[in-house]
Amino acid sequence: MKCILCGKTEKQYHDGMCSSCYSENYFSVEDIKKFPFSYCANCGAYRHSVQWQGKLELHEAIKKSLLYNMRFKAKPEEVIITINLPEHKMKIGSKAIGEIDVIVKTRVFKNRSLLELPNKENFAEMQNSLKEEEYTIPLKVSYTLCDMCNKKKTEYFEGRIQIRHVGNEQFSAAKQLVRDLIKPRNDVFITKEEPLDNGIDFFISSQKYVQNIGAELYKKFGGELTVTSKLFSRNKQTSKDLFRVDVLLRLPEFNIGDIIFINHKLIKVTAMHEKKIVGITLKENKSISENIDKGFEIKARNKDIHEVIVTKKKPLEVLHPYDYQSTLVANPDFHKTIGNKVKVIIVDDIVYMV
Ligand SMILES: [Zn+2]
Ligand SMILES: [Zn+2]
Repeated sequence: MKCILCGKTEKQYHDGMCSSCYSENYFSVEDIKKFPFSYCANCGAYRHSVQWQGKLELHEAIKKSLLYNMRFKAKPEEVIITINLPEHKMKIGSKAIGEIDVIVKTRVFKNRSLLELPNKENFAEMQNSLKEEEYTIPLKVSYTLCDMCNKKKTEYFEGRIQIRHVGNEQFSAAKQLVRDLIKPRNDVFITKEEPLDNGIDFFISSQKYVQNIGAELYKKFGGELTVTSKLFSRNKQTSKDLFRVDVLLRLPEFNIGDIIFINHKLIKVTAMHEKKIVGITLKENKSISENIDKGFEIKARNKDIHEVIVTKKKPLEVLHPYDYQSTLVANPDFHKTIGNKVKVIIVDDIVYMV
C-alpha cells in the first residue's frame, strides 16, 4: 500500500497516510474562538464573555481567557502562550492592541498501541515525537471598570467641586475645565455630575484633587472660592481621620465687557483673576485693578453696547441709541469726527464711549 499523499510505502498507515503525512495533517487545535477581552483598570478583574471573572494579573488573565476559548482534539502536551502588547498605561476607557502567539505541542501517536504502529524499531520514538502547531491571534485589551468597581465608584466620593452662577459666560468653560483636568488621570474620577438650577456639583473620588482643581478654576475664572472640610470616617487600619472636602466657586455675576461700579469708579471689566478684576475706567480710559471684596454694582452688560454715529465734533455728540437725539458723550475721544461710528454704553442715563 502506498501513502495517498506522498506515495511512499510504509509499514503502518493512518487513514491511508504514511506516518509523516499523517502527523503533518494532524491538528490538535480544533477551534480558537475570537473573544472580546476587558480588564478592570481598578481591581484587575477580567472578562472574556458576559460575566466578569475574578482578579488576575493581566497576562495570566489573557492566557486563561485564551485557553477557555480554544478547543483541542486531545489534551496537548504543552501550550506555550506569548502575549505581545506594546507598552501602555492601564487607563479606564483606553485600549491596547497586540497579538498572542500560541505554540501547541502534541504527541500525535501517544496513545497508539504496538498493533497500530507495528514498526518495533521506532515505536518509542514515534510515540514520543512532538508535533508543534503555531497560531497568532489578534488581541485587544479594553480597560474599563468591572461591575463591582462601577458600583463602588458611583457611591464613593471624597469631595465635591461646586460651581455657581450659570449666568456667568464662563460657566460652561469652568465646567469643562473640571472634566478636562480629571480625564487624563487614572487615580481620580468624577463619580457623579449633578446639575442644579444655578450651577453644578461634581462628585470627585479623591479629595486631594478637589482642592487642586478648585485652585485652578479660581486662578482662571476668578470669583469667590470657599473650601470646607468635614470629617466623614476614620480609617481603621491607619486610624487616620478621613475628610470630605468641598470646594465652592462662585463665579462673578458679571462678565468680561460688563460695566461695574467699584471703589467710586465705573470700570469696563477686561479680565478676572482670583479676587481681582482688571479693567479700564470709563472716564479716564485708564487700566486699573480692583479687589471685588470692596463690593461692586453691575451698571451695564456688555450686550448693551451700541454702535452709534457721531453727530457733532465739539463737544462730541452722538445719536442716542434709544431716542435718536444728538447727545453729549461723557468721555469724548477728539479723534472722532462727524459720521464716524463709535461704540457706546449708557450708564445712569449718561452716554459713555467704550
Ligand atoms: Zn506520505
Ligand atoms: Zn474592578
